[in-house]
Formats: sequence, C-alpha cells, structure tokens
Amino acid sequence: MGKKTKLMMLGPPGAGKGTQAQRLASRMGIPQISTGDMLRAAKKSGSEMGKKAAEYMDKGHLVPDQVVIGIVEESLKSPDVADGFILDGFPRTVEQAEALDSLGIKLDAVLNIQVDEDVLVKRLGGRRACLTCGATYHVEHNPSKEEDICDKCGSETIQRDDDKPEAIRTRMGAYRGKTAPLIEFYRERGRLYDFDGAQSPDEVTAAIMSVIEE
Ligand SMILES: [Zn+2]
Repeated sequence: MGKKTKLMMLGPPGAGKGTQAQRLASRMGIPQISTGDMLRAAKKSGSEMGKKAAEYMDKGHLVPDQVVIGIVEESLKSPDVADGFILDGFPRTVEQAEALDSLGIKLDAVLNIQVDEDVLVKRLGGRRACLTCGATYHVEHNPSKEEDICDKCGSETIQRDDDKPEAIRTRMGAYRGKTAPLIEFYRERGRLYDFDGAQSPDEVTAAIMSVIEE
C-alpha cells in the first residue's frame, strides 16, 4: 500500500485537529484545506461557483451545500492538490461525504482524534485569557507568573464562557450529534483511523505518521 495523501481530520473541539493538520501539512508538503479557505479563494477567483458563493457570503447567509460541494470540486481539481491534501472541516455531514464520493474523490484516510469529555473539560477548562491584550494562558501547561494576572499587561485574566465545563459539554454533545454518522460512514468503508487524543501532541503525530506511511 502506498503513502496515504488524501486526508481528512475529524475530532471534537479541543482535540488538537488544527495542530495535527498543520504538522502533517508541513511534513508532507501538502496543503491544509478548510471550507472557509476554499470559499474565500473561490470568491477571489471569480469562477461561476465563486460568484454564487459570494452572493450568499456578502449577505451574511450560510452557503448552501450544493455550492460548497461545487467549490470543493473546483478546489480539489486544482494543481495545488496534485500531491494530496488535508481537509479540515469538510465534509461535515453524510450528504457532503456522499457528494465527495460521487465526484470521484476518494479519501485515503480519515484521521479521527478521540478525546474523552473529561479530558477535554480539563484541557479547555484550564484556559485563561486576558481581555485587555488578548494573551492566552493555561493553568497547567502555560500559567501566568502571578495567578489570574496577565504577564504582558498586568490586567486580570478570565475563563471565557465557552471554556466553562457546562459549555464544553454542550459543544461536545452537538459535535457528537453531527459527526457520529460521519464516523460510521467512513468506518464502514474501511477508511477511518482512530487516534487517542489524550496522548501528547508528539505521540499523536507519530501515530498518524505511522498510519499514513504504512
Ligand atoms: Zn494582557
């Protein structure tokens, strides 16, 4: 089996998807593609699909599935992705995954980073932010010198509402509801690879690389 180069990241908020996607992109020399990036590029290019997307985006509306899929098709046929790509945030639904399949774009591996809710609550719950200068801290991994005081500007640091345990559990529930069907979709097709996101980022990268290069 050759190297896997058509990749997709899956995992809840706080699982470290973005970090892993960035590392893979630079190690493998392939682009990391988010839906937002694709839409902005299409709008700029002025293609038919780009114009359609722009109409929705300029009004602040959600771009419908059909247009998103059209833009994904354009993006994944560009020479930039001839050596592969890492999708981040697409497909988001089983319908989008089916559309990708029907375009003849077959993902080699879907990288599913699994993290327990408790680990996530601890990880995201330890974040602190300074509202004055935007500096961020973590009570365990990157604490400020003085508790609750920003090193850079001396203001008080706070826990964002988004990072409070209740909010994290709500976000996890929403994620599970939306993506569980996608996990099964790719598992049934033998393309899903699970990774333990409770490990250190280096350990997760090593595990992913061994799957990609096998
Ligand atoms: Zn500050």
